[in-house]
Amino acid sequence: MSDKKVFFFGEGKAEGSREMKNLLGGKGANLAEMTSLGLPVPPGFTISTEVCTHFYLNKQQYPSGLEAAVHEAILKVEKIVGAKFAQQDNPLLLSIRSGARVSMPGMMDTVLNLGLNDETVLGLAKAADERFAYDSYRRFIQMYSDVVLGVSSHHFENLIEQERRRENVESDSELSAKSLKALVTEFKKVVLMETGKTFPMEPQQQLWGAISAVFSSWDSARAVSYRRIHKIPEDWGTAVNVQAMVFGNMGEDCATGVAFTRDPSTGDKRFFGEYLVNAQGEDVVAGIRTPCPINSESANGSQLATLDVLMPKAYAELVKTYQVLEKHYRDMQDIEFTIQKGKLYMLQTRTGKRTANAAVRIAVDMVKEKLISPKEAIMRVTPAQVEQLLHPRLDPRHKKEVIAKGLPASPGAASGEVVFSSEEAEELKKKNKKVILVRHETSPEDIGGMDASEGILTALGGMTSHAAVVARGMGKPCVAGCGVINIDYKNQLFKVAQYVIRKGDIITIDGATGEVILGHVPTINSQLDEFFKEFMQWVDEYRSLKVRANAETPHDVKVARTFGAEGVGLCRTEHMFFEESRILAVREMILADSKKQREAALQKIFPMQKEDFKAIFREMKGWPVTIRLLDPPLHEFLPKTEPEIVSLARVLNTSKETLQAKLRTLHEFNPMLGHRGCRLGVSFPEIYAMQVRAILEAACELIKKEDHPVEPEIMIPFIGALAEYRLLKADVLEVCEKVLAEQRITLSFTVGTMIEIPRACLIADQLAEEAAFFSFGTNDLTQMTLGLSRDDSGSFLPLYVEKGIYPIDPFVSLDQEGVGELVSLACERARKTNKSIKIGICGEQGGDTSTIEFCNRLGFNYVSCSPFRVPVARLAAAQATLKAK
Ligand code: PEP
Ligand code: MG
Repeated sequence: MSDKKVFFFGEGKAEGSREMKNLLGGKGANLAEMTSLGLPVPPGFTISTEVCTHFYLNKQQYPSGLEAAVHEAILKVEKIVGAKFAQQDNPLLLSIRSGARVSMPGMMDTVLNLGLNDETVLGLAKAADERFAYDSYRRFIQMYSDVVLGVSSHHFENLIEQERRRENVESDSELSAKSLKALVTEFKKVVLMETGKTFPMEPQQQLWGAISAVFSSWDSARAVSYRRIHKIPEDWGTAVNVQAMVFGNMGEDCATGVAFTRDPSTGDKRFFGEYLVNAQGEDVVAGIRTPCPINSESANGSQLATLDVLMPKAYAELVKTYQVLEKHYRDMQDIEFTIQKGKLYMLQTRTGKRTANAAVRIAVDMVKEKLISPKEAIMRVTPAQVEQLLHPRLDPRHKKEVIAKGLPASPGAASGEVVFSSEEAEELKKKNKKVILVRHETSPEDIGGMDASEGILTALGGMTSHAAVVARGMGKPCVAGCGVINIDYKNQLFKVAQYVIRKGDIITIDGATGEVILGHVPTINSQLDEFFKEFMQWVDEYRSLKVRANAETPHDVKVARTFGAEGVGLCRTEHMFFEESRILAVREMILADSKKQREAALQKIFPMQKEDFKAIFREMKGWPVTIRLLDPPLHEFLPKTEPEIVSLARVLNTSKETLQAKLRTLHEFNPMLGHRGCRLGVSFPEIYAMQVRAILEAACELIKKEDHPVEPEIMIPFIGALAEYRLLKADVLEVCEKVLAEQRITLSFTVGTMIEIPRACLIADQLAEEAAFFSFGTNDLTQMTLGLSRDDSGSFLPLYVEKGIYPIDPFVSLDQEGVGELVSLACERARKTNKSIKIGICGEQGGDTSTIEFCNRLGFNYVSCSPFRVPVARLAAAQATLKAK
């Protein structure tokens, strides 16, 4: 611990500065900074966070020398103010405030008006006036008792309420000096009753009581849980700021207020704030009186008197001050001020919190004002804020009754009637109804229903479940793994706590928080304005990672392009198989008894696949498109319910029993590790041959007829051995050569593989010799590395993860677990044999901010994510580059 424990500020000089947030906390560092800037800050001192750490490590004892340092600092304050602490005549009063490195709003404690007792209150009355003195005294007893002595505030509030009634007045500020005096006597009785001790009269004892209470508030239950939620380290500690009081409650020429240097909700460049005449800071926060707008720009139609009219001199000073602060900090500030007898004092400045819209707007404006550089602007907006901008969100002004909470699987918010089946969702959609699809889990057959719904709620499944992945791809809100809801398909309802929600009832889901809400909550759309476009242009200039999208429908590909995708990183061809018009041919193909039959069925699918690829190439206008050959186990395409089986048997001209027997042979015991991916390609070469032909013919025809470049990348999934890759690559090339010869055209295309089996990482050097590109399929790679299998809905043992038994959320960043190590090892080995191999990622983590930073570090060429995450990933990629520098 450093020798210096107490940092003084006052009269234009400060021992601290804004750079010292770790030691002085945010508030202390900025009070010091404002003092050095020559702004009107009441003098005071900051007890460092190191003292807090010492306090906790040493059974709540203070380090030696602290008392002397505090004493000395108080003498300095006394000299500047011209008043003396604990002296009856003209007493100095102090404020004691917490202040950690990062703001923890409302979590820790504050004591104002400290130093008052039965004697000093007389001195204060003489120096100012009696009413003010007793108002300050009753406030002090109330606050100190609450914060330091643990006497609940409601005792005091009740007494004030009684007094107001007795005096027949509406607000505290109308209470007379006599009433306030009487209250002080009553308050002291409450303290004696509640604590068994008299209220401390000795100012030194009050001071140390308050300092201890502030330090102790670091450990209060609410502060601890706040830190847990916001991932703030326990050992940071808080500083304590002790400052000469200035009074906003000394009369009608006094006020207190808060303001933002720009509008925190829109980012508009206008000074924006609220104030109260004749009040102290906590009155503004407590909401007892309605604050007034500081100027007409803040008025929003309010008729209340504005500060610029009421106290023009102090207001002009405030304007000058905020301009100095914004220029100095080069960011929007959130300030607190007090006006005492017409004179302005600054009590706090900090970087103001803002909405996503405002963050972009302010960053762009500040570049134009030459306050910050484009690089700084890029770092000022978080990827989460960009994400918010892309989705509608719940109107925060609206009340909501939350009935359940699941995983925030796909952001955005939506309301609609509850339905329990995809068919019903599609039916109601046709009637222009808005629905929320509620399922235990979803499967590929639900795509239509999901598409017809406003949002999806599932009881099972995690962040990588089918519902979550597909919803993210569609840009629709989804709450997954909401285990508390009890779905009863038979009776078409779900139960949760005391609620029974039936089909047709309206609910709202918030996919950004995981909340399920009763009834309709209006949403607000954030629009992507000119500011956003300009901001994203800078983002693109500074990143080196390319960003692609995982998409397989022309619609999704188009969306991806409008969001700035630079290619398709993963086109899952099986998604094209599920469409109603195709599934029958697909089933015929799978159930074929001979190669000939299979080829006949494939011929039916071929033209459709080819048209799909054409449409995708067309939308991508020359950007690379990675097309993955068929991946999932075949049984996923087969019918499951009895009626479906019966009707398929009829079409195939076979008996139900024969079909059932065949289905049993195709059933995978371990679908994720069974007969899937490249293994299907080895067993049924004609499937991949059909797909490769469709890709190449589509590309050739497009080049010939539409005259724009096409860049197909053919990807073989699930490779675990070099031999598999060699065999399949040869098959692929054979078809390609044939098609090119037939079409008489040259075309550049590449063949590569997905890396999604741990063994593929280990043999990356061998594979890289033969592959033009690698795409890390981190969904499979994660589950295989962690030894967690996905259930049919594709989720990683959600209950396990929920209960915190498995310490990893499989969706979270790659660099946190062994998966990242495997990826890094694979890159290193691959580059040994193929320096220029193209490397990308297409698992769900491809859209995760810290994974993007990780991929940037490893020198990836691109990341690929769902279309709606593309702008988020672009920003994350630019920030990763800037951070690396
Ligand atoms: C993966 O495994 O990461 C991947 C993208 O493939 P899928 O999710 O389709 O198995
Ligand atoms: Mg996979």
